[in-house]
Amino acid sequence: MTMRGGPGGMGGPGGRFLEEEEIQQTPKVTKELLFRIFSYLKPYWKQMAIVLIAIIISSAFSIYPSILTGKIIDEGLIGRDMNKLIFYIVLSLVVTLISNLIGVLESYFNTWIAQHITFDMRNQMYNHLQQMSQRFFTSNNQGDIITRMTSDIDGVQMIITNTFTSILSNVITLTIALVAMFQKNWVLAVVGIIIVPLFTLPTRKAGKTRWSITKEAQACNDEMNTILNETMSVSGQLLVKLFGREDKEYNKYYEVNEKMISLNIKESMAGRWFRVVMSTISSVGPMILYFVGGLLMMKYNSDVTVGDITVLVSLLGRMYGPVNSLLNIQVDWIRSMAMFTRIFEYFDMDIEIKNAENPIKLTNIQGNIDFENVFFQYNEDRMILKDINFSLKSGNSIAIVGPSGSGKSTLINLIPRLYDVTKGSVKFDGIDVRDIDLKELRDAIGIVSQDTYLFNGTIKENLLYAKEDASEEEIIEACKKANIHDFIMNQEKGYDTEVGNRGLKLSGGEKQRISIARVLLKDPWVMIFDEATASLDSISEKAIQDAIDPLIEERTSILIAHRLSTILAADEIIVLKDGEIVERGKHQDLINKNGVYTDLYNTQFKIEGMNDNACD
Ligand code: ATP
Repeated sequence: MTMRGGPGGMGGPGGRFLEEEEIQQTPKVTKELLFRIFSYLKPYWKQMAIVLIAIIISSAFSIYPSILTGKIIDEGLIGRDMNKLIFYIVLSLVVTLISNLIGVLESYFNTWIAQHITFDMRNQMYNHLQQMSQRFFTSNNQGDIITRMTSDIDGVQMIITNTFTSILSNVITLTIALVAMFQKNWVLAVVGIIIVPLFTLPTRKAGKTRWSITKEAQACNDEMNTILNETMSVSGQLLVKLFGREDKEYNKYYEVNEKMISLNIKESMAGRWFRVVMSTISSVGPMILYFVGGLLMMKYNSDVTVGDITVLVSLLGRMYGPVNSLLNIQVDWIRSMAMFTRIFEYFDMDIEIKNAENPIKLTNIQGNIDFENVFFQYNEDRMILKDINFSLKSGNSIAIVGPSGSGKSTLINLIPRLYDVTKGSVKFDGIDVRDIDLKELRDAIGIVSQDTYLFNGTIKENLLYAKEDASEEEIIEACKKANIHDFIMNQEKGYDTEVGNRGLKLSGGEKQRISIARVLLKDPWVMIFDEATASLDSISEKAIQDAIDPLIEERTSILIAHRLSTILAADEIIVLKDGEIVERGKHQDLINKNGVYTDLYNTQFKIEGMNDNACD
């Protein structure tokens, strides 16, 4: 079993080793864990039975030619019997062929089972992760999530295809080999039993040395990949260029590259030495058997034959691999259990945002929104929203303004239940959002977020994400409303223009207008617009403003606003500060209050408003 690129797959004696961290974090193997693993195997018990039978037959058959060698020598060659010689040779070939054919059958079913189990697990995991809340995705490292979905689940496949079957086939091979050896000559069999571990252990020691060099080379390789990932990305290169770090980055890369070369040479030589140790040691074993066999024949007049000695030598050669594999069981077992435990840990994570048991279906949607004494906290330590109360009537619009970090985005995330309130309630058409069918609730709400996300693909594909069956006319209408149609038509490939990785081939304003068009295609009852804080040029701003104005007219809207024009378009303004509503009303009334809003107006909106006017 090769795990995470470790040198475990070196085959013969040498073996696999646990890392410090793995030894410390050895999982507790409970009855529940074993039952749970077993539950994944259970649906495939018929195929497993075939594998089991196939392993038994092929292991037994694979040993048989070694036993036949004795007969070929004693009865055929030394006995000078041509018929017997031919018979045993043919028998040996037929047995080998059958053993190999059964081996193929076993591999097929084995791979089939492993692939189906990983198929089940991957789907189950993906489905589970999709139901996890935003909290999960913001607090877990994306790399960790991907590792569990890929390496850990692939590891499970390895365990099934390699570990389980190799244990079984090794035990069978060893048992048959030992029985056959004792049948031939017990003295030589005992010598053989002593020889195997004596020669397996030193090769394990040599393997360990090689393994530690490989580990070092891997760490170096990881370091190199990190440098490449960081500096060869679009944003990374931008940073390198803007800060003139080319030389520094090159030197860093050069050093790691240099270290890598010497480690690679060392690793390759260690591999060579390892093979030398292995082959020397494994050739000493047969010599000892020949010597002891010779002693028995010549000095002690034993009835052991040349054929018997040859059989014993051949069987001895067949024992190194299985013994070494079985010595590795502990490593494989601990790794397997750790892998299953890690995967189950994810499965056991609570789904925070669940559909209600008897969810209420939305009929006759109006699009009224009420916040009633809403409190919210991400973590125990800090209350982000405090006692928020407001009502937004169908067709009206509200602008939420406030200093950065005051909780504006958090507030809107509570409406489509990206998070649930800590206290109080958010109501949609008078029903607590937690009681409404989650899909229907989210269908009724459209959000244009600050951080516009476009998938790698064409503009059209990105638009269709909102409505798969949208017609050409609908797409064009939405894009016209979002003020992006002309831009798209000016591109060489029009709607088939590739947007690039995360939409990076488009400007911030273009991306935002595409995402407005995308929400328009969804045609939600309530529209939430989280205005980007990054300032756009006045032409882009005007284009976006022209795109949102009609939206606000048509439906219930909440606008997180940073620009005066957006604020003025709303029916009411709510001013948030430190998670509390500190002021509310119309623009002029708020200005007259001379409070937080006036401060924001003087520092932010007024200047932009002046720019807008200048542009108009
Ligand atoms: P901005 O105008 O800069 O976008 P905002 O008013 O929208 O700010 P929020 O994004 O709602 O502010 O953040 C409110 C507070 O909650 C901030 O102090 C922020 O650090 C914190 N916060 C936001 N998201 C999380 C999260 N996932 N986990 C923990 N704290 C968070």
